Amino acid sequence: MAEKRQKKVTVGFIALGCPKNIIDSERMLAEIARAGLLISAEPENADVVVINTCGFIAPAKAEALEAVKHAVDCKRNGTIKKVIVAGCLPQRLGRELFNQADGIDAIVGLGQRDNIARIIKKTLSCGQPAAYLGQSPHTISDDRVRLLITPRHWAYLRISEGCNHRCSFCTIPEIRGRFRSKPKELVLAEAAELVSAGAVELNIIGQDTTYYGRDLKMNPVRSKTPDACSLLAGTSNGVKNGLAALVRELEKIAGLAWIRLMYLYPAGIDDELVEAIAGSKKIVHYFDVPIQHINNKILKSMRRPDTRERICRLIENLRSRLPDCSLRTTLIVGFPGETDRQFNELLDFIKWAEFDALGCFRFYPESGTGAADMPAQVPDRIKQQRLEQLMLTQQKIAFAKNKNRIGSRLTCLVDFVNNEGTGRGRFYGQAPDIDSICIIKNCSANPGQFIDTKVVGTKDYDLLVEQI
Ligand code: SF4
Repeated sequence: MAEKRQKKVTVGFIALGCPKNIIDSERMLAEIARAGLLISAEPENADVVVINTCGFIAPAKAEALEAVKHAVDCKRNGTIKKVIVAGCLPQRLGRELFNQADGIDAIVGLGQRDNIARIIKKTLSCGQPAAYLGQSPHTISDDRVRLLITPRHWAYLRISEGCNHRCSFCTIPEIRGRFRSKPKELVLAEAAELVSAGAVELNIIGQDTTYYGRDLKMNPVRSKTPDACSLLAGTSNGVKNGLAALVRELEKIAGLAWIRLMYLYPAGIDDELVEAIAGSKKIVHYFDVPIQHINNKILKSMRRPDTRERICRLIENLRSRLPDCSLRTTLIVGFPGETDRQFNELLDFIKWAEFDALGCFRFYPESGTGAADMPAQVPDRIKQQRLEQLMLTQQKIAFAKNKNRIGSRLTCLVDFVNNEGTGRGRFYGQAPDIDSICIIKNCSANPGQFIDTKVVGTKDYDLLVEQI
């Protein structure tokens, strides 16, 4: 009996979803370890499996339900005792999740993230399925003390939670609540913690990072001289840019080499932010600007504040101010009412814009969103055709851009090196886990080190480089 009491509970953890969810997973893992539970490398053989899910669109939900099904099968085979589902999917579906997937022992909403160890222990001693939910979160979580899933030399840094925009296709505001900025002091403390643990690259995330500080009334200083050559005339209301102010503070952290700003809402990119990036030695010239579409009618129907004219002007101005900038965007094809002509407009636009990287989704009519019930839904077959056509068009652009880089020199951050001396790394224009990579020949450096390289070839979307 005494021996049985001493046996530690093992926990298998499956982390799904976007970088915001990864941070939540890292926080949960830290709480699990802190409570003295053992984290198992083999979820299928653990006492408890926690699946931290995404519930944003249908494929993410399907992936989560598949992971749940597999865990429940293992439970029925007797290898797992309990299955706990956490994160966005339970937050979105609530108790309905029990009906959509058999065999779940507990569901855990976003607001219960830091209680995961207590919930695991309670679930082990409880026979009935239980829900730990609550409303959409309305506070901002302290993300310090994380057990990093990412390599130690780079990490995600969340500066806000939730979203105040109401894009008609998006479930995020419903799942993650209204926009809340993380207080600057807390952001800086988290950044310092990550850097002292070995991170040289921080990837700044939030639903819309350009919104940072607006709810805190951060730097509500009215400009006396409205900027005449604003990148986006009409969007700069004279309020100083909270994100620019924040990154200027982050830059001061010794040991931090790269700061990458993700999820820059186009309408929120103003002169001050661009100047902060241009004048910085640490903020990489990388713009992740999700535009979703280019046709004005579709943008309006999506409830995006942008117009074709503004987006084109933004791209032109970014390229002229920072000729070496790398541009990434995200698009949706097959939005309700999208005609062949509007889709062709989008195709012509991406040929003109020549994005360095591009992600594209088919439109999914998610329940609870305005667009789900819009008339003129596009058949799945057409959506898929458009997705393929668009990605093939972008592929040609990306491959040509890669070829143009042959012979040039790039500073690479090494992510991994194998025993044969072949490494993987990234130059500033490649964000981790989402963009292409540099394959490094003759790499004598270690992960986390910066090296000088020469581009010697290409391999699909990736660059082949040699350490100099
Ligand atoms: S900006 Fe739009 S697409 Fe992005 S999270 Fe907010 S509502 Fe969703």
